Amino acid sequence: MILKGSNHERLFVILNKGELLVQSLTKVVEDNHIQGGFITGIGALKDVELGYYILEKQTYIRKHFLHEDFELIALNGNISLKEGKPFIHVHAALGRQDFSTFGGHLFEGTVAVTTEISILPLGLMPQRKLDEAIGIALICGA
Ligand code: ZN
Repeated sequence: MILKGSNHERLFVILNKGELLVQSLTKVVEDNHIQGGFITGIGALKDVELGYYILEKQTYIRKHFLHEDFELIALNGNISLKEGKPFIHVHAALGRQDFSTFGGHLFEGTVAVTTEISILPLGLMPQRKLDEAIGIALICGA
């Protein structure tokens, strides 16, 4: 479900249990022709894949967190263009039942209960390009 603000700029995206977060947000951005913007959200996730970037090796450590539901304490990120396609770059802080927290670069996660995500469009699409020295596609302009 998408609720649009009175100025038709901000979007409030409610994802349901079982939906893939990053995939769903990418589709929302494509369907609504959103040109760049900022993402914040809360909710609950399961089957989460997080990353931690190791600069020296120019690679992400990727880890799957399965068989557990997590509070999505904070989802923060942005929308840009990478290799000609909208790219959702989000980080997540997650909480466990024992109230411990962890987080990282969010590759994907499945909605465990709901997510309540706001998108604030920028109005222009930042472009990402591979930075050879860093090893990942960085924002280089619009
Ligand atoms: Zn990241």
